[in-house]
Amino acid sequence: MIATLVEHGMGYQIDGFMGLVVSLFVLYSGISLARETVSPLLGEGADTELRDKLTKYIQSCEMVIGCHDLMVHDYGPGQCFASIHVEIDKNVDALVSHEAIDRMERECLKKFDTHLVIHYDPVITDDKEADALKQKVLVCIGKINPQITLHDFRVSRCEPGIRLTFDLVLPESLERKKNQIQEQIQAEINRDSADKYFLDITFDVEDR
Ligand SMILES: [Zn+2]
Ligand SMILES: [Zn+2]
Repeated sequence: MIATLVEHGMGYQIDGFMGLVVSLFVLYSGISLARETVSPLLGEGADTELRDKLTKYIQSCEMVIGCHDLMVHDYGPGQCFASIHVEIDKNVDALVSHEAIDRMERECLKKFDTHLVIHYDPVITDDKEADALKQKVLVCIGKINPQITLHDFRVSRCEPGIRLTFDLVLPESLERKKNQIQEQIQAEINRDSADKYFLDITFDVEDR
């Protein structure tokens, strides 16, 4: 209607102009709709608060030594799914650990409306040799950068030596230094040592 009114003053140019306005509007709605639909699917979004709440709650639970690798996928109200690794002493009975894990999952649904799945990581707490090796690795990574954290530390014997398997969480600034870090730890841990150590490291980058 506006177009018809203005048309009298401006001739037929207005038709093309209105056409342009309409197509820009369609383009804009299309892009914002696509963005709204896709970003939660990519696990993106302002769920830092939920992540903090979940982590704090899990860490406060009985028997939990630590937790890591939290992933949150929010598909809308009542459709929030998450997973996390929870460390529990390997000497705690499997049925008891499972009971505790089940309880945490149910509580998270009640408290935070989040369907949480917990991956159980048994932690060895009474192996002196593994403990000493872990301390050695911790000292190495502390020297490289105190912001690096370590989890899931395991020791296994492989024929020419001893294999150390663990995960390192790097600050974003060190994302491209993985090989360097691995070589540095490898050199440091094998210095003045009768045993030959091999490293099997899984790198993660801290959530921003
Ligand atoms: Zn783990
Ligand atoms: Zn279960």
